[in-house]
Amino acid sequence: MNKHWTIETIQEFVKKNSDSKLLTTEYHGFSQKLQFECACGNHFEKSFTKFKNKNQRKCEVCQPLKEAL
Ligand SMILES: [Zn+2]
Repeated sequence: MNKHWTIETIQEFVKKNSDSKLLTTEYHGFSQKLQFECACGNHFEKSFTKFKNKNQRKCEVCQPLKEAL
């Protein structure tokens, strides 16, 4: 079952589940790239699906992507 995400609930999720900050202020759907600010200060883009389901919750410097997974 899919929860209906809004920019507010996403913001809450990001706050509770990561050290990153959500910069995007409008949410248009799961495939949208959202702007985040990592705890290190870097900005990065990520769809919320990846952020949440694939645990990609930091910038690529702090958390290098493992393309094989
Ligand atoms: Zn970082």
